[in-house]
Amino acid sequence: MFQGIYTITENKPIVASIFKIQLQGDTKAITAPGQFVNIKLDGFYLRRPISVFDYDNTSITLIYKVVGKGTAYMAQLAPGQKLDLLVGLGNGFDTSKSGENPVVIGGGVGVPPMYALAKQLIAEGKSVTAILG
Ligand SMILES: Cc1cc2nc3c(=O)[nH]c(=O)nc-3n(C[C@H](O)[C@H](O)[C@H](O)COP(=O)(O)OP(=O)(O)OC[C@H]3O[C@@H](n4cnc5c(N)ncnc54)[C@H](O)[C@@H]3O)c2cc1C
Repeated sequence: MFQGIYTITENKPIVASIFKIQLQGDTKAITAPGQFVNIKLDGFYLRRPISVFDYDNTSITLIYKVVGKGTAYMAQLAPGQKLDLLVGLGNGFDTSKSGENPVVIGGGVGVPPMYALAKQLIAEGKSVTAILG
């Protein structure tokens, strides 16, 4: 687990009430697809947990749905603003346990972490089928 300050590079709706946010910063604590981050928001006591949609050496991308005050606050944040994140939370998926033809299944806000998982499985030469609801 790592606590760091991340700079927003993109935060825009992809469909009604669903946003994609990209953050620049240290991603070394992310060890597997399926992990999540916990986001500190000004004026909110509890951090908001959001799954990692995608990541690379310098950026984290999240997909979130606006359902309440915290996510509505997130939706109005602009590129250049900074957020305090706890990164590398949760165990994530151990892809060494999958066969050659894995099926990934997700629904609603359970869909985003399937992207990085499928990407890693494909990188390992596996033939992935996705079932999304
Ligand atoms: C491990 C983990 C990973 C998650 N990953 C994602 C993700 O990748 N993308 C994402 O969009 N969300 C994800 N969530 C859900 C997300 O954390 C919540 O939707 C968010 O914290 C709500 O914050 P809020 O302040 O906007 O709403 P709150 O003020 O906390 O809630 C406002 C109202 O919305 C209702 N509500 C809260 N959450 C939801 C929901 N998910 N669906 C419908 N109604 C809800 C509450 O019951 C309440 O009535 C994840 C949650 C967990 C625990």
